[in-house]
Amino acid sequence: MQERKTKILIIGSGPAGYSAAIYAARAGFNPILVTGMTPGGQLTITTDVENYPGFAEAIQGPWLMDQMRDQAAHVGAEIVYDYVESVDFSKRPFVCKTSGGTTYIAWCVIIATGAQAMWLGLESEKTFRGFGVSGCATCDGFFFRGKNVAVVGGGNTAVEEALYLTNHASHVTLIHRRDALRAEKILQERLFAHPKISVLWDHVVSEIKGEEAPLRMTGVELTHTKTGEKSLHAFDGLFVAVGHKPATEIFKGQIDMDEVGYITCPPGTVFTNVEGVFAAGDVQERLYRQAVVAAGQGCMAALDAARDIESHPECHF
Ligand code: NDP
Repeated sequence: MQERKTKILIIGSGPAGYSAAIYAARAGFNPILVTGMTPGGQLTITTDVENYPGFAEAIQGPWLMDQMRDQAAHVGAEIVYDYVESVDFSKRPFVCKTSGGTTYIAWCVIIATGAQAMWLGLESEKTFRGFGVSGCATCDGFFFRGKNVAVVGGGNTAVEEALYLTNHASHVTLIHRRDALRAEKILQERLFAHPKISVLWDHVVSEIKGEEAPLRMTGVELTHTKTGEKSLHAFDGLFVAVGHKPATEIFKGQIDMDEVGYITCPPGTVFTNVEGVFAAGDVQERLYRQAVVAAGQGCMAALDAARDIESHPECHF
């Protein structure tokens, strides 16, 4: 068991965490960033990123995150590959323990743990996960070369996954529970114009069908959301893209959150209800949830943490 002290501990390694680390390091606070289970966060499971400013051509998500990590390290942040499994925010300095056995004593904590993909919650979804059911087109799309696949969801992720899958699959069906998508207009236009994609409106996946030996999905049962009518459809693969859940389990009871688990901050700020604890990125952002927004909030959190440290001369770390 190792104990370490730091003025600023950053939990999470997406755009919010790395931006916070860059700003905190350049301000001379020698921050420590604990990466969590998925170093680089959600952008490491995407491919093309076209909307992060500064790059005229599309860049790759994993590459962008490597750059952010290297930039943070270059300006003096310490990056630790570990997972914070418990926190005590009841008094300052705060105590955060990792699964690797380190206890961090931190004057300020910046929470940037992001969000994770959600699943439909069907038993059959669990059965066929990895055997036709996937949560990541860019990870698994390759295995569906020439196959007939479906994507569930109506947001940016679902539309991007459907478009990506056309590189591999023979046909892609987008299944959405309403009759309008929430994805950005430009993505919708690409989706509707694509000859390999069709959309099934007003349907939810009520069951995933398949064979046991060898284990593989063969199709889905859909339920019409208006008529309740059930129908069977053959698919070789199903990609679930139905949104995200904030990664806030370890902060429950320590900090205010909403009913879904997003950390609540006054609008336009990164202040949590605990003085000295800040939340940046998808962990608190329900409305915009973009890498560039997360990066901006990471910067805000580092600046606010710096102000907090400067206003507490008793903080001798
Ligand atoms: P969203 O919350 O935007 O969309 C989730 C979709 O899944 C919605 O269409 C929702 O339907 C549907 N859904 C939710 N639960 C179920 C269910 N149980 N069964 C069927 N359908 C369901 O999540 P995303 O992951 O798409 O995106 C998250 C955020 O990340 C967004 O802000 C998005 O803009 C952003 N993002 C940005 C990208 C980019 O800019 N390149 C790429 C990917 C994501 P309904 O519409 O009816 O609520």
